[in-house]
Amino acid sequence: MGGPFSPFLQGLRCTRCGREYAAGEVAYVCGCRPNVGSDLGTLDAVYDYRALREAVTPGALARSPASGLEAWEPLLPVAPGHLPPLPVGRTPLLHARRLGAALGMERLWVKDDSRNPSGSLKDRASAIAVALAQALGRETVATASTGNAAAALAALSAAAGLASVIFVPQAAPRAKIAQHLAYGSRVLAVEGSYDDAFDLCVAACDALGWYNRNTGYNPFMTEGKKTVALELAAQMAQAHGGEQPFLAPDAVLVPVGDGCIIGGVHKGFQDLLALGWIRRMPRIYGIQSTQSSALYRAWQTGLEIPEPVEATTRADSIGVNAPRDPVKALRAVRETGGAFLAVEDSAILQAILPLARRVGVFPEPAGAAAYAGLLQALESGTVRRDETVVLLVTGTGLKDVNAAMEVAGEPTAIPPDLEAVREALGRE
Ligand SMILES: *Cc1c(COP(=O)(O)O)cnc(C)c1O
Repeated sequence: MGGPFSPFLQGLRCTRCGREYAAGEVAYVCGCRPNVGSDLGTLDAVYDYRALREAVTPGALARSPASGLEAWEPLLPVAPGHLPPLPVGRTPLLHARRLGAALGMERLWVKDDSRNPSGSLKDRASAIAVALAQALGRETVATASTGNAAAALAALSAAAGLASVIFVPQAAPRAKIAQHLAYGSRVLAVEGSYDDAFDLCVAACDALGWYNRNTGYNPFMTEGKKTVALELAAQMAQAHGGEQPFLAPDAVLVPVGDGCIIGGVHKGFQDLLALGWIRRMPRIYGIQSTQSSALYRAWQTGLEIPEPVEATTRADSIGVNAPRDPVKALRAVRETGGAFLAVEDSAILQAILPLARRVGVFPEPAGAAAYAGLLQALESGTVRRDETVVLLVTGTGLKDVNAAMEVAGEPTAIPPDLEAVREALGRE
């Protein structure tokens, strides 16, 4: 065949009107919607599961020795051979025994996606964007971002030798902007919100022919993000003796802004279920900040498309006024019997410490949100202590050290003598 897309990709289906497209027939979204704010005709990637089942065995896939996302190539939308030369994913699934013990849980796990090349789960999606841009013969990739999607795109484009253009709101944290610049992207700091940056990026890509990685707009970002679920299920099976190649936990807790990650987690498990490689879906929980809770509210009130909010959360990676992937996000929760939870910013910041101190994983505020959600879910009985639960840690604490300092405090200043050490420690 030799085209840009995987031979197993059948096409795309609109999440809103159901219209089906062949791969390549439509680039980003279905034309059935006005293409503003949250109200987009987002698309699902559809695979030929029967052909996949004949071509690959679950055991070979789950235990593939390939590095990075190459391991999942049959389940990715892009033709083999285009992934950038910077391995993404393969992050550890940690049995959080000490953290679990403090909560009376024996089967609490942490999937540590802070250990990706640019420090967040967004690398999974950006790797697919860069691979598709290369397969389609594009020389420039662009994205709007609250920070991490752009850092990921900058890193993976640099590795592949593609140019990247980034639209960030001026308020994005310095650490993330430092990444964009160091990796060599053209960085455009938009005087406005993430939502303004998003619309501008769409217009620029249309006008200038760049490949657009925008979250919730490019349908294949879900396909990159789903690899976290594929990995998680393979690792969970390994940890339980490896008799089956894949195993789903009872519940997965996911921090949510635009809703693309949670939609990706859902898609990964859906693929495995459709292939007959897992027997049931996990319940999927979306964790938002009370100060950026558009999807939580839509879930509570039964809306299909959320009303925009004025997001003010300190957890910048999940601060979104008008979520761009609402259909996939709401489906993930509704179809698996999960829930959306909204937690206070103070609880999100406090959640950094137990993850750091009892697991050894240092998350940025958004990356810690799943733990704050777990505390609320245990209290309300939504999640039980005897269940197998996975927290998704989505980004590293080095992205926002000020947030960590707010909850971790300052070091003890001492003169350079031993007595001072004794005194300082005695005081504590
Ligand atoms: C992007 C991001 C999220 C939220 O993902 P969405 O797809 O926007 O819901 C959560 N945590 C971190 C660290 C992120 O970068």
